[in-house]
Amino acid sequence: MVEPKATDLMERIVSLCKRKGFIFQSSEIYGGINGFWDYGPLGAELKRNIKDYWWRAMTRWRQDVVGLEASIIMHPKVWHASGHTTTFADPMVDCLLTKKRFRADQIEPQSGTAYHYSGAQDASETVEGGPARNCAEPYSVLIETGKHPGYAQEIARKFYKERGVRWPTLLGERGEELQNTTRYNPDNGSLLTEPRLFNLMFKTHVGPVEDQENVAYLRPETAQAIFAQFKNVLDVARQKVPFGICQIGKAFRNEINPRNFTFRSREFEQMELEFFIRPDEAVEAVCGSVARPQGPGHPGRPQANWGWQMWHQYWVEERIGFYENIGLPRASLVEYWQKPEELAHYARATVDILYKFPFSKRDAAGEPAGEELEGIAARGDFDLSQHQRFSGKSMVVFDEELKAAWPKVEKERQEQLLNSYGQARLKYLTKSGEPEEKAVPQAREEADRLAQGYFVPHVIEPSAGVDRLALALICNAYAEDQAPDEKGKMESRIVLRLHPRVAPVKVAIFPLLKNRPELVGKAVEIRDLLRPHLAVFYDETGAIGRRYRRQDEAGTPFGVTVDFDTLGEKGPEFKDTVTLRARDTMQQTRMKINDLLPFLSEKIQ
Ligand code: ATP
Repeated sequence: MVEPKATDLMERIVSLCKRKGFIFQSSEIYGGINGFWDYGPLGAELKRNIKDYWWRAMTRWRQDVVGLEASIIMHPKVWHASGHTTTFADPMVDCLLTKKRFRADQIEPQSGTAYHYSGAQDASETVEGGPARNCAEPYSVLIETGKHPGYAQEIARKFYKERGVRWPTLLGERGEELQNTTRYNPDNGSLLTEPRLFNLMFKTHVGPVEDQENVAYLRPETAQAIFAQFKNVLDVARQKVPFGICQIGKAFRNEINPRNFTFRSREFEQMELEFFIRPDEAVEAVCGSVARPQGPGHPGRPQANWGWQMWHQYWVEERIGFYENIGLPRASLVEYWQKPEELAHYARATVDILYKFPFSKRDAAGEPAGEELEGIAARGDFDLSQHQRFSGKSMVVFDEELKAAWPKVEKERQEQLLNSYGQARLKYLTKSGEPEEKAVPQAREEADRLAQGYFVPHVIEPSAGVDRLALALICNAYAEDQAPDEKGKMESRIVLRLHPRVAPVKVAIFPLLKNRPELVGKAVEIRDLLRPHLAVFYDETGAIGRRYRRQDEAGTPFGVTVDFDTLGEKGPEFKDTVTLRARDTMQQTRMKINDLLPFLSEKIQ
């Protein structure tokens, strides 16, 4: 079968999402609102399954992670401390002709000939006899090298007309060859405005008075609440470092250019873990050495002597394993290590897990490069330190093992460890604006405190988006193949090969005929038997083949048909057996009704 083009494929996926009730445009009856989406009956189940599976994998099945559910609006100082009020901004540019807005860093570099104009003179006086309105604003248009300058002139005339010049005569035309410029609109060649920084946080006011005093923000990420509540959780959770706190919740970003369906939305959900660890100096003091990665791959069960690099690698591998467990093959994912120049100043390493979406840019070999599903960052002790500084509340933990181990460390090694810890603290303090005369003694004091068992924990942060994952799962599952109709004739079918763990409906129950009360009664009985344990869908209308096809499109992995054999009409050995049809292979097997639940449960867990 011919593979559809990426854009066609995306269109088909978007259309299926609407048709089957996975994803609708928000406020569609009013024309929609850009960057906001609603999940219909199947989409709501899919998202819930993703979140449930993440929650179980990240906390319920672990000893060392606990959950949190924090408010969306927090004290504005949280966002001063995290840096979001000052640095959470994207550069934006507008097309000078159409006003279309772009994120400056997302414009593809282009090469060509730029035609510059110094302004335009109005020929109205001569043409119409009206008063002339000249414009002295310089403007340029980029066109392909070798293309006739008439194209650039046409665009430039439109630009000057917009500025009130009725019959523009272009002035001072000058051509210039440009390489890899991002200053022009890729759609029409028009010059863009200079980049301006635009803060992505949505603002609101708390209480009835809308003044500066009452400004608050809709959280742009869920992570900060975890840091802000770190001490409270530590006090109650009976955990000690290393341990994690995780949270799922809504986040809001006033994205300049929402695009690629739900991939970049203005309201979305995140699933975030902050996993707190000892600084490497403390690990060495307690364990005598620090284990570092010996090569790629999962490093196995956590060990006390792991330094931050081992923990980082561990979480990268755990998270990739998570995606594989819900049906994203390893080959569809890319593990992208951010380059030193891409890292945030406090980050020691960040790995982005990318999924090869149909709309991903292609690399030189034509392979999709992938788009971010999740970032796993080793953030040092930056976040807790910031909240400690801004709130004045201590974020330091006491580590009894460290206190007990310290005196046993060789004197010379003690000095080295204190020096390396003190240097890191000094770097943080001076970077965050403390004057040297204050930062130096403070860093020394903090190093002395390390020797007594006190430190601000470091953190590894796996941060994933629910909506991007839902979209990746749908894209990955979408397939078109051939299936036989009622008469055995092959016809094309659309099938969503969602993993049973995330599929919105796990099993569909069909009585063969709806006008036979014995068949309907038995099917309803099976539905009621399974319903307390898993999502089932009961359907009695239409030919059985059509009912299968509807469920194939919904991603339902199994179908159960109650037929006359079930009633024992073919022989007692078939009584209380049903046909179980597998969506992907379309194979049908006979199964006892009593075996259905254990079989399906095993597929789903
Ligand atoms: P991007 O570079 O794509 O804007 P980011 O690096 O800013 O993403 P993070 O701040 O690391 O993203 O957020 C963690 C996760 O939250 C992302 O990996 C993604 O899954 C999700 N996410 C972030 N922004 C959006 C958005 N606008 N729409 C949907 N999901 C998002």
